[in-house]
Amino acid sequence: MSTPFLSVRDLRVHFSTEDGTVKAVDGLSFDVEQGRTLGIVGESGSGKSVTNLAILGLHDREHTAIDGEIVLEGRDLLTASERELERLRGNTMSMIFQDALASLSPYHTIGRQISETYRKHTGASRKAARDRAVEMLKRVGIPQPDLRVDDYPHQFSGGMRQRAMIAMALVCDPELLIADEPTTALDVTVQAQIMDLLQDLQQETGTSIIFITHDLGVIADIADDVLVMYGGRCVERGTKKEVLRAPQHPYTWGLLGSMPRLGSPVDVPLSPIPGTPPSLLNPPTGCCFHPRCAFTEQVEGARCPTLRPPLELVDGRGAACHLTAGQRAGFAADFAASRPQ
Ligand code: SF4
Repeated sequence: MSTPFLSVRDLRVHFSTEDGTVKAVDGLSFDVEQGRTLGIVGESGSGKSVTNLAILGLHDREHTAIDGEIVLEGRDLLTASERELERLRGNTMSMIFQDALASLSPYHTIGRQISETYRKHTGASRKAARDRAVEMLKRVGIPQPDLRVDDYPHQFSGGMRQRAMIAMALVCDPELLIADEPTTALDVTVQAQIMDLLQDLQQETGTSIIFITHDLGVIADIADDVLVMYGGRCVERGTKKEVLRAPQHPYTWGLLGSMPRLGSPVDVPLSPIPGTPPSLLNPPTGCCFHPRCAFTEQVEGARCPTLRPPLELVDGRGAACHLTAGQRAGFAADFAASRPQ
């Protein structure tokens, strides 16, 4: 079996606060293969973004306890020095944030921000770095890139700013790109353009992508593999086809059931998941999802509130739930039958 490009093993990211320890990520493992896109999906506070900040080494070191392994091309990032992480960030791994306006400096031109990143990692001359910035703006579809390179962020539309941030993230041809809800603030047409752009760039460069979102519709467009997070843990994993076509976990059924679909009768309301995401300060005992789950009665021996279900994977596919495989298959079939194709 080949070694994965990125391997995360039993990752725990705990924050100390005045009220106690927040277990933002609590025993998470996954792999990202070269050239593939892993979609990480879950509600706010499920630990998606914290996981990725830990991969980049951008967590608050003073108040964060991190344990486990994050291995990128054979190098454990959790034991890497700050200097080494700085070299890797932007060069080998890079990130696109949700809010381009907050992430770009309002005081510097778009071109300068892209070219400085390039110069820092390659030592290129000012002229070569500016040429590279123009080339990158062209590559991400900015019209008249040789003129717009001298614009400030406020002179770009929201979609163009997001493209500029993608240009900045890709300027050094990173091997791993982490995109954290990069299209959430954009209208659907621009959202589709940005996702097409990421897919085209991935085909050109073979970059591996981690795409974080709360939206399974976006996952359906962009991911190869899917990891569903809840309460700081993975509750379901598989290929996109497996997770979206034959989901195995009650939380994934809930997420899919709360999503509008083409062909759904307009007079049938969506079914949101009842309740709210768990507190990570005082998470529920047993299965973290049990206070919101409609299937606890189906599990023998009242194990849901007392015993944490393990994530059992076969060939990278599985779910963390006490329901038997037979029960899950039956409920999944009922769920699929209740949804328009
Ligand atoms: Fe629901 Fe129990 Fe499965 Fe958790 S373990 S998802 S509470 S049935």
